[in-house]
Amino acid sequence: MKSLDRLIKCFRRLQGVGPRQAERFALHFLRAPESEVAEFTEALLKMRANVHYCPICFSYSEGGLCEICSDDTRDDGLLCVVEEPKDIEAIEKTGSYNGLYHVLHGSISPLDGRGADDLKIKELVERVQNSEREIREVIIATNPDTEGESTSLYIADVLRGLVGKITRIGYGMPLGGHIDYIDEMTLSHSLKGRTKI
Ligand code: ZN
Repeated sequence: MKSLDRLIKCFRRLQGVGPRQAERFALHFLRAPESEVAEFTEALLKMRANVHYCPICFSYSEGGLCEICSDDTRDDGLLCVVEEPKDIEAIEKTGSYNGLYHVLHGSISPLDGRGADDLKIKELVERVQNSEREIREVIIATNPDTEGESTSLYIADVLRGLVGKITRIGYGMPLGGHIDYIDEMTLSHSLKGRTKI
């Protein structure tokens, strides 16, 4: 059954989906009402057509600037650097940060063949250099794992001299953890207890 196999192959491309799960997903759509299949494919295509990177912070946005970059009540002298857009949500939930963000889209990981040029680091440096408002502080909130740490050191290096203060969150963060899995309390403490690097 060529078309069923083809769909299974498509699901196999998703991270963390094994052969059995891919088959289950495919069979789900085989048995589902046609309206559900149509809704799924339409949602996929619409998402691809509408969702873009925000040209300033590189988070997701539906056309133009994202909600945070276009919100003028945010403190634009404060910039928090995160690995992924979902990390922004985690930090927003703590309610203890009112600055702007910059999304790197990953971390430096030589083992996975990912270097500084594959991330939005050049864009970060340009953003800091060209910012109309002086950026008082850059808070580096990459994950507290090996890749996140080396990314943090690299960023601190390239930004040195360009901003007044560079800090790193970390206080109370579980080693090897991910920002978006850390509970709000710990993340909030970690933000407040950030240290200069
Ligand atoms: Zn933005």
